[in-house]
Amino acid sequence: MHMKICKTVEQMRLASRTAHRAGKRVGFVPTMGALHEGHLSLVRAAKARSDVVAVSIFVNPTQFGPKEDLAKYPRPFERDCELLENEGVDLLFAPSAEEMYPKGAVTWVEVEGLSQKLCGRSRLGHFRGVTTVVSKLFHIIEPDLAFFGQKDAAQAAIIRRMVHDLNFPIEIVVCPIVREPDGLAMSSRNAYLSPQEHKSALVLHRTLTEIQSLFAHGERNSARLIEAGKKVLAQEPGVRLDYLGIVDPDCLEPITDLQDQALVAVAAFVGSTRLIDNLVLRAI
Ligand code: AMP
Repeated sequence: MHMKICKTVEQMRLASRTAHRAGKRVGFVPTMGALHEGHLSLVRAAKARSDVVAVSIFVNPTQFGPKEDLAKYPRPFERDCELLENEGVDLLFAPSAEEMYPKGAVTWVEVEGLSQKLCGRSRLGHFRGVTTVVSKLFHIIEPDLAFFGQKDAAQAAIIRRMVHDLNFPIEIVVCPIVREPDGLAMSSRNAYLSPQEHKSALVLHRTLTEIQSLFAHGERNSARLIEAGKKVLAQEPGVRLDYLGIVDPDCLEPITDLQDQALVAVAAFVGSTRLIDNLVLRAI
């Protein structure tokens, strides 16, 4: 079947309502495009659990800060369409910024507290933009399930909280991080990296695996684990740490004495590119 491309809210709503009326379960994957295997893993998870798969491609201006990369964010639309078509996606929602934010819009959705943690601390207003656009997309598409990547662990926690607090009748499915063979977490922003920067960027994953290995050997003190991680990261001169934290994966509060599940999250600038990565600590 051919993928239907919807550019307006009305077209998209009609298409997903038609699917619902035919008794289909609609699975939804929100993205900003410049698709890679990470995105496609979400599409495949959606295919496995839904009758109709809807994907959105929208580079959401409200989640970018004034000094961030909104203008230069990659937008290879034709290629993205081809990739989605090959995965058997049924519906693509690709609205313009004007379509999503008509003049005069003043309403926001904000998950208080959580939105100021991790990336929310260094990217003011970022998560408010994310929760607002995801709420809008949820209202437009009315999916039964929505698929997010663990790559953006704070985002996943915030969306889960929002869906719970606002009674969205949507099951949130979080899928594992997809990495390059060398360990680098896939990201549309990896396209900004020079070959040298790509090599330097591998230190993010090395930092996380160092912490995981100390944890596996019994270290349960967060401060010491973070120190050890920072030491690894400092070995790469081209990389500047934004944050390295060990937090509760649901409320994103720092954990000092580790017992059960903990999320280790890192963000760093490699040259001028800001990258994030994380892992969930497990005693192996
Ligand atoms: P983005 O286009 O960067 O907004 O990402 C869209 C969705 O894909 C989000 O739910 C991300 O968490 C997810 N995603 C991005 N990169 C990866 C990855 N390497 N592995 C798994 N999911 C990812």
